[in-house]
Amino acid sequence: MFNKRVKISELLTWEPQFQEVIVMGWVKTFRNNQFIALNDGSTNTNLQVVAELGLLDENQLKRISTGASLKVAGTVIPSPGKGQKLEVKASTIEVLGDSDAEKFPLQPKEHSLEFLREIAHLRFRTNTFGAVFRVRHALAFAIHEFFNKKGFVYMHTPVITASDAEGAGEMFRVTTLPLENPPKNERGEIDYSQDFFGRSTNLTVSGQLEGELAAMAFSDIYTFGPTFRAENSNTTRHLAEFWMVEPEMAFYDIEDNMNLAEEFIKYIIGYALKNNRGDLEFLAQRLEKEESKLPQQQRSEMGLIQKLEFVLNNQFERITYTEAIDILLASPAYKKKKFDYEVKWGKDLQSEHERYLVEKHFKKPVIVTGYPKDIKSFYMRVNDDGKTVAAMDILAPGIGEIVGGSQREERLDKLEERMREMHIPVDQLWWYLDTRRFGSVPHAGFGLGFERMVQFVTGMTNIRDVIPFPRTPKNAEF
Ligand code: ATP
Ligand code: MN
Repeated sequence: MFNKRVKISELLTWEPQFQEVIVMGWVKTFRNNQFIALNDGSTNTNLQVVAELGLLDENQLKRISTGASLKVAGTVIPSPGKGQKLEVKASTIEVLGDSDAEKFPLQPKEHSLEFLREIAHLRFRTNTFGAVFRVRHALAFAIHEFFNKKGFVYMHTPVITASDAEGAGEMFRVTTLPLENPPKNERGEIDYSQDFFGRSTNLTVSGQLEGELAAMAFSDIYTFGPTFRAENSNTTRHLAEFWMVEPEMAFYDIEDNMNLAEEFIKYIIGYALKNNRGDLEFLAQRLEKEESKLPQQQRSEMGLIQKLEFVLNNQFERITYTEAIDILLASPAYKKKKFDYEVKWGKDLQSEHERYLVEKHFKKPVIVTGYPKDIKSFYMRVNDDGKTVAAMDILAPGIGEIVGGSQREERLDKLEERMREMHIPVDQLWWYLDTRRFGSVPHAGFGLGFERMVQFVTGMTNIRDVIPFPRTPKNAEF
């Protein structure tokens, strides 16, 4: 019985010809004891259901309140009302689940994003989050489609690992040892040999190292899964649990890597523009309204859709880290001491610097290459100058870093040297180094932070609003 229903997105494409239908959904609003705006999550556009006077008795009328779920049987008729071509004239309305109007937290009015974060279990039912999560889905689908078309193999890398791929040490430990009174060795340290895996383990910060192993057999692979970082960054761009897309390609140099990343980003944006027009138009209006509250100079120069089309139709700017530093040093912002962090060759670019480059200077996405080796990871290929590595970061307007990637060091001796310099345990990573021992090839890859991509496409300013249940410091509700 239930799968005989028509989804509202589908129904809205029909010509009204008095078809008999069954629709189900949740009540958004109920006006004049007659007009129900019904939504089933398939689209942001509500279906107007008309209950002619007399169809429902007093008791039934009371039960049709915001949030209640309904099964409606009726006829599709042309709508006399403005803004919709059709509506459903109900012959029967059954309340599947009541919703106490006094207690239901979502009222038919605008709620702040902060408030909605506190009721993340219900926020899917709002127009904004409906649109955001349908776009998130579409982007995920487009990612698989892009790589599948190119013959990449989707590789599932482990969530629990014993290595720290980034060497940054910001990991969540995985253990079954008792927190109170864990076993100790002679030196008084916790004895992880007695732990579940017989060693110390953590949640993965990146699937890259395992991805490289697979690329050394399949040529082209990608991972797409959750990654975890115990970094105490309370920013609008950091989560403790986020999804990362990590392609890894054999027989690729840094140039090939940049080309792929640019094509990839454009592909998934193009997919959303084509397949999620309604949701993006809604989100564009939402953003415009939100930005109208800001002072003029903080507003975006382009609307959301205009921005996405601009990115699609223009080449990303490509500069070296050294050029980026020169641009920053010569900038009015630097001269007026507007940056909080130091600008100096050898120092990492901070978010404020990245945003200056993309938003003020180039006004488009920028790929920065050739970072100093000391601020980057051990596996990045050292350039001939001996000072920089073949790294690339892609910076996007409004977000900053969206992609981090590099050509990997394929020369065993050079790689071991870097690992020793950076205190990375060479013995423990014997399996990783084996790829360089047996048929090593030039190869490259990158990581795209999926939520940052969703932010970019939806125009949501806070990363907590583009993942269903955000995990951030001091927050793991739901
Ligand atoms: P950032 O400097 O912004 O912290 P990162 O240099 O630590 O980023 P990488 O280790 O290169 O980032 O990770 C690859 C990509 O994963 C980044 O480009 C970004 O899009 C995303 N990313 C990194 N950390 C986070 C996080 N905590 N939450 C969400 N996305 C993240
Ligand atoms: Mn980081």
